[in-house]
Amino acid sequence: MIKILPSVESFLARQHGLLIGGQWQPAASAATFATLNPATGTELAHVAEGDAADVDRAVAAAQAAFPAWAAVLPAQCERLLHRYADLIETHREELAQLESLDNGKPFNVAYNVEVNVALGQLRFYAGMPTRLKGETYPVSSPGYHVYTRREPLGVCGAITPWNYSTVMAMQKIGPALACGNTLVLKPAEQTPLTALRLGELALEAGIPPGVLNVVTGFGHTAGAALARHPHLRKIGFTGSTEVGRAIVRSSAENLAHVSLELGGKSALIIFDDADLDAAAETALWAIFANSGQNCVAGSRLFVQQTVYDNFLSTLVGRAQALRVGPGMQPDTDLGPLISQAQQRRVQGYIERGLDEGARLLTGGATAPSADGYFVPPTIFEHVADTATIAREEIFGPVLAVFPFSDEDEVIARANAVPFGLAAGVWTNQLARAHRVAAQLHAGVVWVNTYDWFDPAVPFGGRGASGHGRELGMQVAELYTELKGIWIKV
Ligand code: ADP
Ligand code: MG
Repeated sequence: MIKILPSVESFLARQHGLLIGGQWQPAASAATFATLNPATGTELAHVAEGDAADVDRAVAAAQAAFPAWAAVLPAQCERLLHRYADLIETHREELAQLESLDNGKPFNVAYNVEVNVALGQLRFYAGMPTRLKGETYPVSSPGYHVYTRREPLGVCGAITPWNYSTVMAMQKIGPALACGNTLVLKPAEQTPLTALRLGELALEAGIPPGVLNVVTGFGHTAGAALARHPHLRKIGFTGSTEVGRAIVRSSAENLAHVSLELGGKSALIIFDDADLDAAAETALWAIFANSGQNCVAGSRLFVQQTVYDNFLSTLVGRAQALRVGPGMQPDTDLGPLISQAQQRRVQGYIERGLDEGARLLTGGATAPSADGYFVPPTIFEHVADTATIAREEIFGPVLAVFPFSDEDEVIARANAVPFGLAAGVWTNQLARAHRVAAQLHAGVVWVNTYDWFDPAVPFGGRGASGHGRELGMQVAELYTELKGIWIKV
């Protein structure tokens, strides 16, 4: 096992409060809850259980901090965000250990992907304040000069999931702050630790009290109170489609801007002319990275009939070689699932797959366990397009494989789900790559690769996968309001 850093030991031992107006405070109710280590099922740390009263205080603190933060000069805002990034870089190993322990993912992934991606994002957002700009317009009335200004919204809320807690937090903290807003962050109850540490580091970087507030707590209490808060101007949500709908309903009252990054059931399509060895390696990680708990997981694999048998036997062989274990064990490929509830859910889908006639090629249900929520890499074939495991997001290491014969057929089948987040295409025919990429219903299509991100590239879904684009300079559209100004000259 990787040795736990002393700074992580002491962080875990603390009784964590809520970060409200730059102060660490207990919940008004004094309630706390435990976050568990999913590799063992034991308590890892205790955090405050915020609810509506705490959300009220946090929103008030964010409101109070807003005018001064919105007035910070762009170059100064950039300096503060870069200083924040420097601190995250200094504490990268510690954050990665916290994430590995709290979420279960392999430490190497937490260090090289999770914290590294969050850091890259923050560096990108740190460059935004001096680049936010309006436009001038050639209006058809004589004697007018007309231009737009991009102005911050005010108090924003962020509700984030547990699968990539550090990245998801930064994907909202970064643009909210860079655009001059203040924020209340409600991290997932399963993984509150890195959000708390990010709150501490923001203060240490000199970001003023109240600009970033962190309220740990549960979704139906703290999360719902934040989404419906009358003073909230924007809510950025990443999570399930079901809760996304509840967020939209709350916005009917406060009319907050809403952006939603929800579930997926992404198709990865392998044509017979592709580099099949590389495609098999990509298909493997497209589904099994983060134990399948990935919004862009390539959970439906379409393989052209002509190469189907060989491709599948390579894939199954590689899946069987993956090591399942605790995230803090250095050779682990797949960590545990986040919780016992998630383990049961995924096992339920595996049983449903069998009941509906699919053929299990590897993996399958293991006995539910209270001491570590592991599920092995699982692959099904002979799955009907209408089967539950072909249509619903499982959010676990479960792959459904389908043979196909031609291009039009596979495009139609790939598009026949309500989700539209991501898709992948493997082919060495240039024209086919462009043709298929254009027709897939998805916010992102990867060709001869999968699961790549860059802070400069907009990301988001359509249909049941949500709307709005995070990342890229376009994220400014989610976190600012345009004002048109007419000057009679
Ligand atoms: P999952 O089922 O994978 O945990 P959720 O969509 O339930 O995904 O959770 C994502 C985030 O949404 C978490 O921070 C959770 O606390 C929050 N959440 C859950 N229910 C609600 C709700 N009714 N209102 C607001 N936030 C919620
Ligand atoms: Mg936990």
